[in-house]
Amino acid sequence: MTASVKIDISEDTILVGIAAAPGIAICRSHRVNRDRMDVVERRISSSEVEPELAAFRDAVVKSKLQLLEVKEQADGKELGEHLYIIDTHLLILDDDMLIGETVSLIREDLINAEGALNRVLRKLRRVFDRISDEYLRERRSDIDSIGDRLMRNLLGETRESLADIDEQVIVVAHDLSPADTIQIDKTKVIGFVTDIGGRTSHTAILARSLGIPAVLGLETVSSLVPDGTPMIIDGSSGTVILKPSTETFRDYLLKKQHYDYLESELLHYRNLPAETKDGHSLFLRSNVDFVDEILAAREQGAQGIGLFRTEFLFMSDEGAPTEEEQFAIYRSAVEQMEPFPVTIRTLDVGGDKFVPELNLSDEVNPAMGLRAVRFSLKEAKLFKTQLRAILRAAAFGPIRVMFPMISGVTEVRDCKQFLERERQELLAAGIDCGENLKIGIMIETPAAVLIADLLAREVDFFSVGTNDLIQYCLAIDRGNEHVAYLYEPMHPAVLQALLRVCQAAESAGIEVGMCGEMAGEDLYSLVLVALGFRELSMNAACISRVKRIIRQVELSEVKQVLDQLITLSTAEEIAAALQKEMHRRYPSIFTVEHV
Ligand code: PEP
Ligand code: MG
Repeated sequence: MTASVKIDISEDTILVGIAAAPGIAICRSHRVNRDRMDVVERRISSSEVEPELAAFRDAVVKSKLQLLEVKEQADGKELGEHLYIIDTHLLILDDDMLIGETVSLIREDLINAEGALNRVLRKLRRVFDRISDEYLRERRSDIDSIGDRLMRNLLGETRESLADIDEQVIVVAHDLSPADTIQIDKTKVIGFVTDIGGRTSHTAILARSLGIPAVLGLETVSSLVPDGTPMIIDGSSGTVILKPSTETFRDYLLKKQHYDYLESELLHYRNLPAETKDGHSLFLRSNVDFVDEILAAREQGAQGIGLFRTEFLFMSDEGAPTEEEQFAIYRSAVEQMEPFPVTIRTLDVGGDKFVPELNLSDEVNPAMGLRAVRFSLKEAKLFKTQLRAILRAAAFGPIRVMFPMISGVTEVRDCKQFLERERQELLAAGIDCGENLKIGIMIETPAAVLIADLLAREVDFFSVGTNDLIQYCLAIDRGNEHVAYLYEPMHPAVLQALLRVCQAAESAGIEVGMCGEMAGEDLYSLVLVALGFRELSMNAACISRVKRIIRQVELSEVKQVLDQLITLSTAEEIAAALQKEMHRRYPSIFTVEHV
């Protein structure tokens, strides 16, 4: 158990964590006990095996029933597609890695049920911890959450349900599982803060779709804050203020009103076209990791999927998905998005995306190793299977295939050759492949930028992956917090790279878009329009914000902004000039704080 640290909290104590879901909440804290449990491991005699197995099986059944109940209660809330998280947890409760291994430790190694379960959970956590990709690593939270439920049921401990909270509070917890979050009644729980968790954890994703401000990763908040402490959370900046003074309280009340007003104004943009005042139009599309996210993206106004990261399909105990499985997913994606296109990126593993199931080899320098398209070209069987599934799905609607991490023309030609061979084989077998599959590449390496004119002759479209392009262009590991301060989208080298790519695409008459995180940051929207991007693909929740910026300017004005920025020599100068300009144009959105 984590002991509560009794300290006196002084007025205006500020804690800073991860800004997981935007918005401001002001209320008293309500501590929910999700502390770790004391688990005792011991050897059992063979006569104890059956009772221990029975206790474990009971706990599994109880956990399933609880989850089914959560699901039933959550039906009808604005959670739609996110209910799949509960299904995922139910599936984990049938998973052999978790259940089968625990049973075998009890039966064969004669370890008591809680000890056996604890061992298996530790092992699973280690597997997830070794993953360096943030999103995949945070799927560990699903294991934590289901493991916690199972263990509590096994030990006969009760959990306070968030559904029982009957007054307005800000929930403070060590961690909240997606099942906890789904139970939240928004009129009661108006915000939450936790010790652990990150921006891409399911809990954070759910908080964002419920529209509840949340700050995660505060490390010790659950042991610091006694029940009933007055607090303010600012989920946009990741700030938590304990015992706010009257002055702070007033400031934040104003900020909250302002934030709520801007949010209500955003709704108005959902169904409006993304075009400048002088009629220059763009496509704002969504990035997705799972097919279940597509309908929600559509509701947010996404005109297509600009990046379907398929690597998540390969994270399964059963190994790589079959052609049929992939085909069903891609087909469903394209049918849900019609008439807008779905851009399927071929497997992008390696580097910071470690997928244990694919047995990638350890590399000294994985960011520059056998990753993305290099891996696919080597693992021909996997690549062919994916391409066949994409080709077949293309018969059902507008699909674009996109190859990641391209560094030369030969790679593009090799990929196209693979694609063509599979197409011919399918056609020879009488299988329809559609006629309009568009072929594109991600521009993520400096080499691709420098030869963008040559690459443009080979493909139908470019999509700039700024997450990697900035990393390779500025030689900054995108996951290394020590050099994070150098990760600057407004570095002159990045601007020049973007300019060059857009010019090459324009001269060749091909489409150019962006699908890195920079595309969804409204601070950069004007610059991206001025550079000539016609497609921006982002987290669906950002679409209205970006649209709001674009709809208030004329193309000629934004070109002037860019002309001025590219004369400056440092990232700091460019960022400061851009922030000042955005504040001048949109004073209520980019407040003085941003400047
Ligand atoms: C990128 O690199 O910008 C990108 C969109 O791809 P990922 O983040 O998946 O590497
Ligand atoms: Mg990338």
